[in-house]
Amino acid sequence: MGRRPARVQVDPESIDSDERPPQTGNIFNIWYSKWSGGDSSDRNTQTHSKTRCNIERDSGYTKADKEQSPFFCLYFSRGACCLGKKCEYLHRLPKETDSWIPHTLDCFGREKFAEYRDDMGGVGNFNKINRTLFVGRINEIDDSIELKISKNFAEWGDIDRIRVIPNKNIAFVTYKNELNAQFAKEAMAHQSLDPDNENEILSVKWANEDPNPEAKAKIEHEHNQQKLKIAKQLVEKLERLKQYESEKRASVTVEEPEETDDLPPKRQKMIQPSPLTPTFFNGSLSVLSELKHKKAHPQKNQALVDYSSDDSD
Ligand SMILES: [Zn+2]
Repeated sequence: MGRRPARVQVDPESIDSDERPPQTGNIFNIWYSKWSGGDSSDRNTQTHSKTRCNIERDSGYTKADKEQSPFFCLYFSRGACCLGKKCEYLHRLPKETDSWIPHTLDCFGREKFAEYRDDMGGVGNFNKINRTLFVGRINEIDDSIELKISKNFAEWGDIDRIRVIPNKNIAFVTYKNELNAQFAKEAMAHQSLDPDNENEILSVKWANEDPNPEAKAKIEHEHNQQKLKIAKQLVEKLERLKQYESEKRASVTVEEPEETDDLPPKRQKMIQPSPLTPTFFNGSLSVLSELKHKKAHPQKNQALVDYSSDDSD
């Protein structure tokens, strides 16, 4: 890069309102370059990106290098920044030394969310360090697919591994650095593996992998606390039950069990009272006899009687 100024990727004169994506919402957010509010579903209106970043040709210094701004230019990553060296965001690839960007923000300075979007698109999740991208809508999977993916995605940073799922026409690309995965997600969105194939419009999203060890440990700790609480409550219940049983035994004289010599040993064991066997005390017995009495002399259902008399009018 050296002292070369950043290249103006698109001529400002050439940008007209047609460059905006089709309106699928009420408000056009210039920074996110999409419509929001209303029905913002843009799944059926995706078109091939008209621009693509070329790191070799386009990167250079901008105002951001002078002012030590830590964030990268979203438009640059998409090959569509018209500001060149006047841009207040970085026009280069993220490096290992850029990893001081807080985990709540992505490399473009956008706030991450506590959860991923349902479709795994968007800025990402601050509870996870995710270095893996899902690449969908690959047109053709042949013997050279891994090479093609490697060639396209290595433009945006060092790749750790690539996994292709041929029968689903998808692939997973894991970068060595999370910031490069963030950059690549924007750079490869709506692009194709073959530059001449405009029919291929790649879908690039976050893969559900690589949980942040810190966040994972925190969630596990919370789960363990919850389990401990439930276990404590169970022990307390058990203690209360045991106490109740022992009090009852102390106050009630238990009848001698009937002669059980004629029963086989197994059945003898079954009828031995367990310390936790629920037992009725006098109050319960009176309620039970009352219930039996009601059942023997059922009352007429008053509501039903009233209804049928109304009906006869
Ligand atoms: Zn820019």
